[in-house]
This record gives sequence, C-alpha cells and structure tokens, in this order.
Amino acid sequence: MQNYEEKLNKALRLFDSAEGILVFSGAGMAYNAGLHTYGSLLHDKFGYFADKYLLADINDGFSLVAHEDREKFFRLYAQVFHFNPPKSPVHKALLSLIRRKPYFIAQTNPDGIYDNLGVPADKIMHIAGFPHLLQCASACNDDLIPMPKDGAFPVCPVCGGAMRPYLDIYGDDNFVRAREYLVQIREYGAFVSRYKKKRLLIFELECGRHDHFGFNAHVITRTLARDCGAFVIRINKYEPIGDFVENFICFDESAGKVIADLLARRPPAKRGRPSKLKKLFPDKFK
Ligand SMILES: [Zn+2]
Repeated sequence: MQNYEEKLNKALRLFDSAEGILVFSGAGMAYNAGLHTYGSLLHDKFGYFADKYLLADINDGFSLVAHEDREKFFRLYAQVFHFNPPKSPVHKALLSLIRRKPYFIAQTNPDGIYDNLGVPADKIMHIAGFPHLLQCASACNDDLIPMPKDGAFPVCPVCGGAMRPYLDIYGDDNFVRAREYLVQIREYGAFVSRYKKKRLLIFELECGRHDHFGFNAHVITRTLARDCGAFVIRINKYEPIGDFVENFICFDESAGKVIADLLARRPPAKRGRPSKLKKLFPDKFK
C-alpha cells in the first residue's frame, strides 16, 4: 500500500509525461462544489416544491411535480444547475492544472460549472444533456429548442405535444440523439482516438460505480487502461474503489485535497508582461 505522498509523486510523474488528458467528472464533483440535490439546496431554493410534493431529492421533482408546476420547476432547475451554478474552487484548480495540456472533459452531472469557468464547448461532453434546452416529450423528432426565459413553454413544432428539458435523468428511452449531442460525442471520440496511441492520462473524478445510463466511466477507463495503456488517476472519496490494473493510482481523499496538492506542486506559469531583463536580453532570460 503506497502512502499519500508516494501516490502524489507518482501522479505528478504521470501528469508531466502525459500528452493528452481526459477527465471523467462525476456527480461527486458537483457535490464538492456545493451543488447537492438534497439538504439545504433542496429546502432553500426548491422549498416550494419540496414542501408541496414531498421531495427528498431535487431530482424527484422530475417525476413528482404536478403538471401545473412543471415549467416553473424546470426553469428553476436550469437556473440553479446550468446558468448560475456555484463557482467551484475544485473545478477551478483542476482547470488550472490541466489547461497546459490538450484536454477533454466528459461530465455525467447535468450542471454548467465547467462551462461557466470558461471551458470551450468543443472540449466538454455533457453526457446527461442540457437542462436549458427542450426536446419533444414524446421524442417524435431530434430537434432541440432553448427554454424560454418566461411565459409558457412552446409545444412540439412537429406533433404539437408537450416539450421537456433535454435531460437523460428520467431513465426512459425518450432522450433523443440531438445533433448537439452527437457533435459532442464526435469531439470526444476524436480526442480519444487522437491520444489513445500516445500517452493518455485519465482523471476519473468522483464517478460513482453506476454513473450513467449507457456511459460508465469505470468501464471506459478500465478498457482504455487495459487495451490502450492509458494511465488513470482515480479520485473517489464517497465511493472509494480500488483497481488491480497497475496503470491506476487510486485516491480516497477528497478531489479538492488531491487536486489542490497536485496544483501546489505544479503551479501554472505566471502570465503577464515579460520582465525588463527578458525584453532587453530575450535570448538570455525566460
Ligand atoms: Zn413531438
């Protein structure tokens, strides 16, 4: 059993030599950021729904909230999870660490934390969809439309039926494969095929054993490690899971602690104006 310092040093060596970094970011990362689906967020922000419909978890609202309140609930969900998520120090530290290398993020939680920290849309895949877009509830076509800021939701332009948020958290077969979704999958696939023959490092962050319908980070990381020689840094405090494949380093400390410790040992290069010495003697000072 390696101690924490040894594992950290091994992780840093993998990071230094990596040519591409793939991040699997699970629901535990949103939890780290304070975006819980129960507790104070449920009772403070979603209190009206929690009390009226006896919700034990915000996600219960997708099945338990009655028709008269559904649009109000969907709009609030999009506000809290997509448009105004907490500014998370853990996500920020992760981006400071990985930004110096080519990277791609696949996230299973339907939140906009990374997007709000400036991750470009072509470097992230939202596996669970987008809470601010709407699809036909009967899945009669694959088109998405933005959720209107106020007023009643539009009906489906094809069948005239109701629209629902574009989220794959219902566990049904009606989540459509929209063009916006397929473009993300293509970007993800292109990144993996570009780096799987090189030195690919996977950060698997707080991904539960059963994340997500049809997309299980554990299965994918294991496959890439076994078949392509990818290295994996798995950080999971809430559901610590070891792995016997030697390419894995598993931490059961919090993602916040491990990422902060990695970043402290690999601080990002300072930006800003070059020093006077560099201006005067560019070939002698960096
Ligand atoms: Zn329709």
